[in-house]
Formats: sequence, structure tokens, C-alpha cells
Amino acid sequence: MKSFTFEAAPGRVVFGPNAVDQLPREIEQLGARRALMLSTPQQQALAEDISRRLADRSAGVYPHAVMHVPIEVANRAIEEAARLGADCIVAAGGGSTIGLAKAIALNSALPILAIPTTYAGSEMTPIYGFTEGGLKRTGRDRRVLPKTVIYDPLLTRDLPLGMSIASGFNAIAHAVEALYAENANPITSLMSEEGIRALAKGLPGVKANLHDLDSRSDCLYGAWLCGSVLGMASMALHHKLCHVLGGSWNLPHAETHTVTLPHAIAYNYEAAPEAMSRIECAMSAPNAAGAIFDLMQKLGAPLSLKELGMKREDLARAAALVMEQPYYNPRPVTSEGVLALLDDAFAGIRPGSSAGAVRAAAGAR
Ligand code: NAD
Repeated sequence: MKSFTFEAAPGRVVFGPNAVDQLPREIEQLGARRALMLSTPQQQALAEDISRRLADRSAGVYPHAVMHVPIEVANRAIEEAARLGADCIVAAGGGSTIGLAKAIALNSALPILAIPTTYAGSEMTPIYGFTEGGLKRTGRDRRVLPKTVIYDPLLTRDLPLGMSIASGFNAIAHAVEALYAENANPITSLMSEEGIRALAKGLPGVKANLHDLDSRSDCLYGAWLCGSVLGMASMALHHKLCHVLGGSWNLPHAETHTVTLPHAIAYNYEAAPEAMSRIECAMSAPNAAGAIFDLMQKLGAPLSLKELGMKREDLARAAALVMEQPYYNPRPVTSEGVLALLDDAFAGIRPGSSAGAVRAAAGAR
């Protein structure tokens, strides 16, 4: 076994149905007294409900979280927190709401309690991102890591099917790349494999019945593990591709991760055999790339970049952007290889039964 350093994600996680009821105690545990509740406009009712239940521990609701975290929105929230006398932030929602909390924490001393309602995993990472003057700035800073995370599967039962599925694959993508990360260690690999297993088990149950609590719990547990490894391990080609496609073509975040994932796996298949056998073990199926694609198909996930609105003529530009800065990937990243991967993702063909897989395998040798 190689030597490694393990740095844990947030120290405190409260998990289970009705876990949100423990929020007042968790705020107290932090040494805080009054929370500013954050949400998107779409989840304002949830934030107001939690705020009502907090009674005098709530300083108010700030329901203005939006995608890409504009810095002006975070600055207004900081002013609002000061005006209302808030000494902590509670973020109830997905990656956009938790992202707003992180931008606030970065520019103030306010601690975050996160209540995630999607499977994106931001609550477990020290990674932040915000938009300032039209430019997206990202970074890592332990100050933005939530102090406490409350996972309540009851709050995820209204996440619509399409978002649940795409968000689940977004989480699986973190675990896949953590398995072949340059700084993977036995603990992150254990968590990654279990995270994939939990989501591969939970997502079909969610499709069968959106309100099934066991399946929602499996998915949220999987999301916790996958988010944790996103925070601990460095990501590779797949996340780079999604960053470029989301940033330059404004493709939807979770769906882009979903569509691209089987092709990124196929690209790295021969170069990361241990990671692949762990994915196959977690999925109880041979051929990691094909297994992910088959699950996507079975669950009715989007399969192609084309259906997300990408144009074929933009693929070469995307490949060039992916090549701009060097980064670790188990298989060397070449422009021809990336373009072939994007071609396959654009068409949405199944890796392993296609020209794409043959190309991927040939290129890896
Ligand atoms: P999101 O937070 O943008 O949410 C999408 C929509 O779904 C919003 O309108 C939201 O209010 C709604 N929603 C969320 N949960 C719901 C629920 N349970 N029921 C009904 N509606 C619900 O989507 P996301 O996929 O969670 O987050 C994506 C963003 O998070 C991206 O910008 C991405 O870059 C970021 N992200 C950051 C990290 C990190 O570590 N910093 C990790 C993952 C994702």
C-alpha cells in the first residue's frame, strides 16, 4: 500500500428521516444563535418552513440563490446577515444554494450548516466558485467547508425524477474519478465504491417510486460518499470536460456529467484497471463504461450531448479548450482522443459495443 494523507470532510453529519428537526440543536452545538436561511426562489417554501420551525433561532430567509453564484448576490446576503444579526448560515438546497453559502463564508466569518436536497455533493467539499464581472472564479478553501451537514431523505422526495437521475450520475462521476485519481487512497477508494453501489441501488427505486424513502436514503447516503471523495481526491478528464462544456456552452451541469461519464470511463478503461474493477463490482456488471450507460438508459437519463443542445461543429473547439492546460489523467489526454470521446458523447452511443470503445481501447495501448 502506498503512503497517504487522509483529510476528513466536515466533521459532523446528521443523517436520517426528519434529521432536519435537529437543526436548532446543531446551531446551538456550533455556538451560534441565529441563522440566515438560504434557498433558491424555487425552494423558498422549504426555507420558510424550516425558518418557522427554528422560531427565534431564525434571523430570516434569503431566497435568492441562483446558478453560478453571482458575487453581488453573496455580498447582498452578507449585508442582510449583518442587518438581521445572523451569526451562521443555513443552506437548504442543491449545489447552487450551498455555493452561495460558500461565497458568503469566504468573505465573512459566518459558519455554514448545509441541508442538501440534491446529490451534487458540494456540502462535502472545500471547493467554491462564484461569478464576478462575467468571469467564474473557483478555488479551494477550508473556510467554505460546512461545519455540519444534515442529510434528510424526506427533503429529497420532491426532487423531480429527471433531476434525481442526473444528479445521481453527477455524484457517481465524482466517485469514478476519485477511484483513478492521482491522490486516491484506500479510504477514498472504499468510499467511492460504496457511493457508486448505493446510488446504483437507490436510483432504480427512485424511478419506480419518487417517494420511496429507502431508495431516497440510499441515494443520499451515496451522494454523501461521492461528495466526500470529490472534496478529497483530485478530479481528471471527465470533470475537465464538464467544466468546459458547462462554462463555454452553458450546458446543464448534472445532465452534462451524466452524458459524458460512460465515455470518460471508456477513455480511461485500459489505463485504470483497478478503478474499473471496483466500478464493476459496485455495479455488479462487467464493463464499467457499458454498465453506467446501461443504467442511464434503463433510468431514462439523457444519453447524448446533442439532446442537451450541443452543436457538432463546436466539438473541435471544446476539445481544444480541454487541451489548454495540462492535468493528471490515467490515460494521456490527446486532442484526437478527446475529440473521439466527444463525438461518441455527442451521438450517445453505448461504449463497448461501438466504434468509440474500439478507438478508446486502441488509443490506451
Ligand atoms: P441546483 O442547486 O442548481 O438546483 C437546481 C434546481 O433544483 C434549483 O431550482 C433548486 O431549487 C431545485 N431543487 C434542488 N433540490 C430540490 C428538491 N429536493 N426538490 C425540488 N427542487 C429542488 O442543482 P445542483 O445540481 O444541486 O447543483 C449544481 C451546481 O452546484 C453547479 O453550479 C455546480 O458547479 C455546483 N457544484 C459545486 C460543487 C462544489 O464542490 N463546489 C459540487 C457539485 C456541484
